[in-house]
Amino acid sequence: MTDPDVLIVGGGIGGLSAATALARKGIRVRLYERSSEFGEVGAGLQIAPNCTRILDAYGLLHEAKSLGVLPEAMVMKDATDGSELTRLDLVDLERKYGFPYMVIHRSDLHGIFLRAAQREGVELITDTQCVAYEQDGATATAVFADGTRDTAEIVIAADGIHSVARNTLVADAPVSSNYVAYRAAIPFDEVRDNGVREKDVVVYIGPRCHFVQYPLRGGQMFNQVAVFQSPKAVAGEPDWGTPDELDGAFDGTCEQVQKGLPLMWRDRWWRMFDRDPVMQWVYGRIALLGDAAHPPLQYMAQGAIMAIEDGWVLAEHVGAQGAQRTSDGSGVDWAAALAAYDAVRPEHCRRVLTTGRAWGELWHLDGIKREQRNLLLRARDTYDYSFTEWIYGPTALTPDQEPPLYTAIPLDSVTGTPAQV
Ligand SMILES: Cc1cc2nc3c(=O)[nH]c(=O)nc-3n(C[C@H](O)[C@H](O)[C@H](O)COP(=O)(O)OP(=O)(O)OC[C@H]3O[C@@H](n4cnc5c(N)ncnc54)[C@H](O)[C@@H]3O)c2cc1C
Repeated sequence: MTDPDVLIVGGGIGGLSAATALARKGIRVRLYERSSEFGEVGAGLQIAPNCTRILDAYGLLHEAKSLGVLPEAMVMKDATDGSELTRLDLVDLERKYGFPYMVIHRSDLHGIFLRAAQREGVELITDTQCVAYEQDGATATAVFADGTRDTAEIVIAADGIHSVARNTLVADAPVSSNYVAYRAAIPFDEVRDNGVREKDVVVYIGPRCHFVQYPLRGGQMFNQVAVFQSPKAVAGEPDWGTPDELDGAFDGTCEQVQKGLPLMWRDRWWRMFDRDPVMQWVYGRIALLGDAAHPPLQYMAQGAIMAIEDGWVLAEHVGAQGAQRTSDGSGVDWAAALAAYDAVRPEHCRRVLTTGRAWGELWHLDGIKREQRNLLLRARDTYDYSFTEWIYGPTALTPDQEPPLYTAIPLDSVTGTPAQV
């Protein structure tokens, strides 16, 4: 490809899905990844109907279903006594939203988009790190560590939470939550005798910690995530989140959590950072996308989904122009497409980010507040979808498509923090 319309920096799920979305609309895309190979580190991902709906639109849902698992329920339990607090019936959820809730290995979802991008003719370049951006009003340029540069009509920065573009254009910094995540993806046989249910996503919530379990790869594998507040981080010590903190953090949790803890990977861990929401993602011909634009705490399980939604929305606005390729370019009014993207995505993602932070506070309560929270959660009707409507409903293309307003739950009586979810 000699003359791409769009450059994308970053070959994670965000960059590759955006590349796929744009290429399907006839846009010529070149994508740069700094690593020597495309890939994902980590274990499972939950993908909700607002994502499987988009996978279906791309013709990728069938492949995703063949690699993932469609669980029957999402169950929230108290990590201390193991009792059930509330649940979502995921079979009914699929009936309501028209698309399934799925759990899938990260590398499988990444691979689906890598293959789709290749099929759509995206030019994929590895081993190339972007270090700076420039623009002149009609084009944008990515500058690379080896001194080379590339120019196109727009550049999309999908380079994750430590995005070079975000650091330059917004100049804010990641915010530490003082929480750390340990993960494990293990053969299901290792947990078969632990009393786990093969068809459930289970989240145990407890004082300053939570523990997530669900099946992967057609039930052959099992995913676990253990998240806790690091005492060393709270004390301001630099070496925080290390394995010696893991076991102590879950003292006093129920038998089910205790059985799962020895199976966690102990050679790597993920310190949990997000960034404050920003309401501008487009700066001339440079656009932020995915974690570069909206890195969340993971409590809503919407980070990768928001990234996939970003690419879909941008591509729909490009497609809506009925763009015809002209000899001197893509024929796309990029200013209009980027303005439409910037008008709708930041507000939705702001809500996800702030709700995620409030959700984390709610999950990790202790003492009387934990008991008050449990009362509220136990009182929730399993088939009350007012919490999920704004997230799992169709992705909005314009601000006025956003569902009216969210149901307010009286979290303020529990946490002292007014919250809207
Ligand atoms: C414990 C945990 C659980 C989670 N669970 C869920 C879940 O269940 N559901 C969900 O939707 N989300 C979940 N998330 C969030 C999700 O993982 C992220 O939001 C998502 O992966 C972000 O994708 P991205 O492509 O925007 O960024 P990244 O995955 O960070 O990809 C960025 C890419 O850009 C490359 N890159 C970086 N800098 C440069 C550069 N300068 N030049 C070139 N390339 C560069 C990187 O190598 C990388 O390949 C979870 C996160 C965590 C930590």
